[in-house]
Amino acid sequence: KNGVVIVGAGHAGVQAAASLREEGYDGPVVLVGDENELPYHKPPLSKTFIKDAEAKPQPLRGEAFYSGNAIDYRPGVRIDRIDAGARRLDVAGSGTISFDRLVLATGSRPRLLKLDGTELAGVVSLRSLADARLIRELSAESEDVVILGGGFIGLEIAATLRAAGRKVTVVEAVDRLLGRAVAPVIAAHVRQRLEAMGVRIMTGTTVSRLEGDGGRVSAAITSSGERLRAQMVIIGIGVVPNVELAEAAGVTIGNGIRVDQHMQSSIAEILAVGDAASYRHWFTGGDVRLESVQNATDQARLAARTILGHAEPFSAVPWFWSDIGDMKLQMVGLTQGGDSHVVLGEPAENKFSIYHYAGNRLLGIESVNRPADHMLGRRMLGAGFSPAPQTVAAGPDALKAALA
Ligand code: FAD
Repeated sequence: KNGVVIVGAGHAGVQAAASLREEGYDGPVVLVGDENELPYHKPPLSKTFIKDAEAKPQPLRGEAFYSGNAIDYRPGVRIDRIDAGARRLDVAGSGTISFDRLVLATGSRPRLLKLDGTELAGVVSLRSLADARLIRELSAESEDVVILGGGFIGLEIAATLRAAGRKVTVVEAVDRLLGRAVAPVIAAHVRQRLEAMGVRIMTGTTVSRLEGDGGRVSAAITSSGERLRAQMVIIGIGVVPNVELAEAAGVTIGNGIRVDQHMQSSIAEILAVGDAASYRHWFTGGDVRLESVQNATDQARLAARTILGHAEPFSAVPWFWSDIGDMKLQMVGLTQGGDSHVVLGEPAENKFSIYHYAGNRLLGIESVNRPADHMLGRRMLGAGFSPAPQTVAAGPDALKAALA
């Protein structure tokens, strides 16, 4: 018996291993990851780690967890080919690993930017602990930082490095921040508070090239011809899913490794979870590929159950958070396609929530520093309960009463 092999030791891969044991799987579990680390939490990297020289990575599980649960964790091992027919993986360098079932938890990687100067030292992106260590080092010797991309990661880094005293400029191509992710009111609020912290934000602007000095980046030249001084340039323009392994093995791909409601790919022995997987979401009926810790861990739990022969479909409520300076943003549900909304709380007090509706159906809630709204939202959506907009407008007590 070769058991289950999991490729990728990030949030999804580690949870899949843990859940297999929690669900009673007693065959071999091999977890391979190409990073040479004890698997760690990614969210703190952009929020705290890069500004604090003393900060330690936060392990997902202690070292004893792996040996204690007979999980054969192999760090620093990269898989470079899947032979689906023979149920065998080729390890980069040498060696093979055989499997009965394979879980692909290969995650995603930063999208590259085709731009003159990206090869210069000091031009980086943030995905891994190794990236975060590099940014921390570069930050110590940088006064001016330019961040390309006004999405969650770019803005988290902007707030973190600004708080550490750097002069930070964010350059975003479209005319608003957090483009695809949140309501315009939230994006405008985030912009205003970041600017109040002293972050410079340029929307509707791109960088046309980077300039260097002795091999190290020294400036970013904008589409409007402005020269922004920078000893570090961080590229945060989104990620692409790591699908190449699966694709070469003949697995169906479509903006990610396609999986069904049980996390099963188009090849029966192969499952996929996390940032790398795309699927038809029960909540919206649309095809999605979600990039969140919640999605990675809930999919991994379900994949373990699928392997053990359970047949329930994926039904987790999607949620996400981001900390940008003094704003805790929390999102629950999927709010694209909404046609009206109700606002609770006060943007001026940096505490408010937006309840998004499509007709009378609650699609989701976006909150800034209103964690109780978020938690209640998770309960409501989890229970399939959609309060009328008037009930929401009447305030949290009316909502709790309606849910009871
Ligand atoms: P990953 O965690 O990326 O793990 C995939 C692993 O597989 C990696 O270690 C990769 O190196 C490895 N791998 C890939 N290919 C191979 C191969 N061929 N062989 C061996 N190993 C391989 N989400 C939130 O919900 N809230 C947040 O606040 C938040 N903040 C974030 C901040 C940062 C800086 C980053 C980078 C992400 C953040 N996210 C956040 C997103 C969240 O971390 C991801 O959605 C989550 O990590 C996805 O988990 P995963 O296991 O699918 O992928």
